[in-house]
Amino acid sequence: MKTDIKALNFEELNIAVKELSLPSFRAKQIYKWLHEVGCTSFDEMTNLSKDLRNKLSDIFYISCCEIEDKYVSQLDDTVKYLFRLTDGEYVESVIMKYKYGYTICVSSQVGCKMGCTFCASTLAGFKRNLTAGEIESQIHAAQKDLGVRISHIVMMGIGEPLDNYSNVLAFLSNVNNENGLNIGMRNITISTCGIVDRIYDLMESDLQLTLTISLHAPNDEIRSKTMPVNNKYPIDVLLKACKEYGEKTGRRVSFEYTLIKNVNDSERNALELANRLKGSLCHINLIPVNDVEERGNVCSSREDIIKFQNILKRNGINATIRRTLGADINASCGQLRHLKKKG
Ligand code: SAH
Repeated sequence: MKTDIKALNFEELNIAVKELSLPSFRAKQIYKWLHEVGCTSFDEMTNLSKDLRNKLSDIFYISCCEIEDKYVSQLDDTVKYLFRLTDGEYVESVIMKYKYGYTICVSSQVGCKMGCTFCASTLAGFKRNLTAGEIESQIHAAQKDLGVRISHIVMMGIGEPLDNYSNVLAFLSNVNNENGLNIGMRNITISTCGIVDRIYDLMESDLQLTLTISLHAPNDEIRSKTMPVNNKYPIDVLLKACKEYGEKTGRRVSFEYTLIKNVNDSERNALELANRLKGSLCHINLIPVNDVEERGNVCSSREDIIKFQNILKRNGINATIRRTLGADINASCGQLRHLKKKG
């Protein structure tokens, strides 16, 4: 079994180069080819000898994402890719254009185990974790295809990033490295459904990224019905971790709250949410629920969404309504899905 060389972080690649008795400058050369240029084969590494390229390809492979399908939104230039991975599995990624640059929403797993009842990513179950190289390859493939530089990353695609913790950490280290894509931690957001143990681990690594929590409910009764993870980590335990995260890292945690008609969108729900979060420095992103055919959730009315936002604001909670992008290509939050491997 060969190892994905793109999944190694800079230190690990240095060790691997040493073990092959190569001079240490080779590590930086190879690293740049993999992470700055985004090579998909050793033959592209033109400043390495043929012998060395052969030697590397005997031991390693380079993970990559082949474009299987590409969808361009007619509404807002959002692009969604269906990528085929080396083993024939598929993941989806979305590129959004903002005033400040291009943002990619990457997937971290093939499918998802979390089972949230409103989300498409979990419908076909969980297949496997992505390697750090596969997460990063989504960026390289999209950049090459679009001919643009992606400056921001949101880990809000398929999968639960904190359920693939060590690979996600290696991915972050590589995209942040100055010999790689060199994307600043402050331009990176990780979204989690609330795996509290890993939030504490992340706190220890003290990265200056943005952590956002998929909260989606003001109390345990509603949350446990819609998000099974709440049975293991109830809201109080989750919010305590978020508070400590903010204190330790100095980074304000944000919350996502998907509004579903008659599930979590009443005035009472808004008040309960406000009371729960009162006194904590936080930001809530309200997301009108996006259509997932199999799920049958109904979006709250515009009027109810604004009412909900106003109750939060009146109670001192900073709340914005998220703009929906890529609605015509099923590229919005919760719409990315695990497609079964063909054949
Ligand atoms: N597993 C992580 C990363 C996924 S991010 C997490 O749960 O945070 C995708 C975001 O879209 C999450 O906030 C998710 O809860 C939300 N989402 C899922 N289904 C949705 C839907 N149908 N409409 C709007 N948002 C949805």
